[in-house]
Amino acid sequence: MTVVPRTSALSHANASGTGCADRPVIVEHGQREVFCGLTSIIWLHRKIQDAFFLVVGSRTCAHLIQSAAGVMIFAEPRFATAIIDERDLAGLADVNEELDRVVAQLLSRRPDIRMLFLVGSCPSEVIKLDLPRAAQRLSRTHAPAVKILSYSGSGIETTFTQGEDACLTALVNELPQETDAAIPSLLVVGSLAEVVEDQLNRLFASLGTFDVAFLPPRKAEALPAVGPNTRFLLAQPFLTDTARALTERGGRHLPASFPLGARGTTDWLHAAAQAFDVPDAHFRDVTRAGEERAKRALEPHRFRLAGKSVFFFPDSQLEIPLARFLSEELGMVPLEVGSPYLNRRIMAAEIDRLPASVQLSEGQDVDRQLDRCKAAKPDLVVCGLGLANPLEAQGLTTKWSIELLFAPTQGYDQAGDLAALFSRPFERRARLEVPGCN
Ligand code: SF4
Repeated sequence: MTVVPRTSALSHANASGTGCADRPVIVEHGQREVFCGLTSIIWLHRKIQDAFFLVVGSRTCAHLIQSAAGVMIFAEPRFATAIIDERDLAGLADVNEELDRVVAQLLSRRPDIRMLFLVGSCPSEVIKLDLPRAAQRLSRTHAPAVKILSYSGSGIETTFTQGEDACLTALVNELPQETDAAIPSLLVVGSLAEVVEDQLNRLFASLGTFDVAFLPPRKAEALPAVGPNTRFLLAQPFLTDTARALTERGGRHLPASFPLGARGTTDWLHAAAQAFDVPDAHFRDVTRAGEERAKRALEPHRFRLAGKSVFFFPDSQLEIPLARFLSEELGMVPLEVGSPYLNRRIMAAEIDRLPASVQLSEGQDVDRQLDRCKAAKPDLVVCGLGLANPLEAQGLTTKWSIELLFAPTQGYDQAGDLAALFSRPFERRARLEVPGCN
C-alpha cells in the first residue's frame, strides 16, 4: 500500500472541501473483490434494443451472466455465451470456424439483430482468439444488415462498469463524422434508463434549441455523428476510455459533476447550459421546479441519514459522486471512499465538494481495507455482493453497490429513489432488531 499526495492541475478547493491536488490517496494493488466487465451486459442489452451481446467465454462466464441477470428467461434473449471449451484448444482455426458458424446460426434465427457485439473474456483459450479480427471478418460477411463489433469484458482487464466503457469505446469508432456544416450539438454519454433519458431530453429542449443525442442510442442505426462541433457530457463517471476516444474524434468534454440528487443534476445541466450560452435567468426558470421537487423528495431521507457515517469499498466508480451526494445533500459523513480507478480529471468537480476529512483510496487490497473498515465502525458500508453478507454477519449495515447501477438514479425525479436506496438498509436492520418483526 502507498499513500500518494496528488499534484493535479485541476484543483478547485472550496470552503468545505479540499481540492484534488491536496488530497492524500491510498493506492493499493492487492486482491480485489469486484465483478468483471461482462456484468455490464445486463444493463447494456436493455439499452440498445436491436443489439445482441455474444460472450465468447467459458461455462463460468455463462453462469455469471445468467446469475447476474437473475436467471431471467426471455422468449428472445439479447445476450448469450458461446462456450469455448478445452476440446477447442486443438486448433484456433477450428475455433474461428466454430465462431463463424455460431454467428451465422444466430443471425439467421434472429433477423431483428442489427448490431452484434463479440465480448471477450479471460479464459486462456479465449485470450488466444483475435476477436477484433474475427469481428472484421464477420462484418464483411454479414454487412450491411448487421454491424459486428468486439470488446473485452475480461475480469483480468475490466471491473464491471468498465465493460460499458469498453463497449462504448468500440461504438465511438463506428460513429459517423460530422459534416462541415454541422452546428454545435450536445452528446450525453453513458447508459441511462429510458425514463431518465426522456426527462433529461425534455429539460434540454426547454433550455434551448441545440441538438441533443445520447450514446449509446436506442437503435443501432441511430448512431450520432461526432466531430469538433460536438460537446459531450458524461452521464456516468466510469467512461474514461470512451471520453478519450470522443476527444480523439474532435469532441469537447464538458467537465461537470454527475446528475445525482438535486444539486448534482442542476450542476450537470448547468455545464451544458453554459456551453450553449443559455442565459442564467432562463436556466433558473427551467430547472427551478425540478430542483425544488428533488429537494422535497430528499427531505425525509435527510432526516433519517444525516450524521450517519458511510464507508465505500471500490466497485463501480460511482463511489465518489455518491459520497458527494450523500454528504452534500443528505448530511451523511463519508469516511473512506474507494474507487477501482480514480480519474482525477473526470472526478475533479465531485472531489472538490467532498469534506476535507474523507480518505480517498484507489485500487484495492481487500484484507487491508476490511481492517480499515472494521476500525472505522461505519454506520453503513457500500460494497459488492461478496463482502456484504460477511460484513452483515459482523453487525455492519450494508448496501450492495450493484443495485445503484440497475436502478434509475439520475435526474431530479429519481433523487428520492436514490436516497431511499441508502435509507432502506437502516430500516431493514431496525426491523430485524425488533423482536418478532422479522
Ligand atoms: S470473464 Fe473471467 S472473470 Fe468474468 S466470468 Fe468469465 S472467467 Fe470469470
